[in-house]
Amino acid sequence: MMVAPTAAAERARELDFEHRKRERGVWPFVLSMRYLTTALGRLGAGTTPVRASPVARPAPGAASITFVGHATTMITTPGVRILTDPLLENSFYGLRRAKAAGIARTDLADVGLVLITHAHRDHLSHASLARISRKAVLIVPPHCTRLVQGLGFTEIIELDPGRSQIVADVEVTAVPVRHSGTRGFGDYVRRGACGYVIRAAGLSAYVAGDTGYFSGFAEIGRRFRPDVALLPIAGYEPASFREEHLSPLDALYAFEDLGARILIPTSYGSFPLSYERLDAPLAWLRRLARERNLARPDAERRVAVLAHGETVHFRVRA
Ligand SMILES: [Zn+2]
Repeated sequence: MMVAPTAAAERARELDFEHRKRERGVWPFVLSMRYLTTALGRLGAGTTPVRASPVARPAPGAASITFVGHATTMITTPGVRILTDPLLENSFYGLRRAKAAGIARTDLADVGLVLITHAHRDHLSHASLARISRKAVLIVPPHCTRLVQGLGFTEIIELDPGRSQIVADVEVTAVPVRHSGTRGFGDYVRRGACGYVIRAAGLSAYVAGDTGYFSGFAEIGRRFRPDVALLPIAGYEPASFREEHLSPLDALYAFEDLGARILIPTSYGSFPLSYERLDAPLAWLRRLARERNLARPDAERRVAVLAHGETVHFRVRA
């Protein structure tokens, strides 16, 4: 039991070293200028529309996962359609979204369970929640009910990390993350932040909204052994952001710790919220996946990059 934290600390040091190798002396200046250019460009640039086909509720024993965009994913089981951290708007505080949210209107109307990982405004969006049926069950981290209770949802459940809740044919367990619990911009109350393990139809998926690399991944892997890991891969420059966000390299270490078979990257390519270029996280992840033999579609363990609005279907293993 004492081995895991030591190993995690060693892996965290290894990751710091690997990231430091990428830094240059003038890097902070270059990064901030690049960010300014990207952000200014995004103020005026348009949003590329995304055509998302409706995803039918699967037959018993199957499930599907759709990458909607940013941290939003849709998990569809025979019994319920789940949306994580819905952010569906084309603008975030004036920043135009590069690619629209990829979800069919009929699927949005069918959402029965919403999982919120933390209170940051790109994860808990009132405008997006307002577009979801009031009949959907809303699961939020501790101390977040007050942020959503005026929206008219009939059932709001605060889930402490370690606790589980069953909704339809799905069991949701909240798990710890390493991320800030405040909402920001005028709301600095300490609120909870978590990830979720979703077990349904023989499939188990781990979802993180935002998190830094930490020893919790190995523990979650040991306890839940998820099949699929939905991990954010952006927001890692400047280097201090890695305290609370994963780079593609961090995400691959987390993927390994979790013991998952499929890594689906999220949170890239929509909004410039950090210094790296919008297309940099995916390019880096693809290169790492090729180098580590995780890119082949038939590989035992693999990285599955989904386009916005793209769906991957899973059948229960016999
Ligand atoms: Zn966040």
